Amino acid sequence: MSEAQEKLEAEVQARSKAEEQARAEADERAKAEAKAESETAAKLEAEQRSRAEAQARHEAEKRLQSEALKQSKPQILPDIPQSYDAKASVIDAAKLSRKPAKCECCEREYPDENQLTRIDSGQMFCQDCLAELKSAAMS
Ligand SMILES: [Zn+2]
Repeated sequence: MSEAQEKLEAEVQARSKAEEQARAEADERAKAEAKAESETAAKLEAEQRSRAEAQARHEAEKRLQSEALKQSKPQILPDIPQSYDAKASVIDAAKLSRKPAKCECCEREYPDENQLTRIDSGQMFCQDCLAELKSAAMS
């Protein structure tokens, strides 16, 4: 083998080596791209899945809420406030039922004790005496 031939052979070998390396690199790059692509696709799919799950959860919550509302409506609304009102109005009626009372100041009889006011000392005063008491306290 001549020196020129040897040189040529070495060059060819070097070139083919470089080509091989370039091909390997291109291969590597293609593989990486494919991987990235499949990763992106997987991420997209996961996002879609989690969005669908969130949507499903949201809808389940809405359904649950409306069902809870439907169930709680007949229990809470008519029952508690109405019976409370009824009781309160019974108490009011008892309070309003007339009971004669005497003013402890002027000793006038009043047919309804609600016409009198209990003052701080516990005495029952009529409106007249109360007004007098107030004006006396002010002067
Ligand atoms: Zn009086």
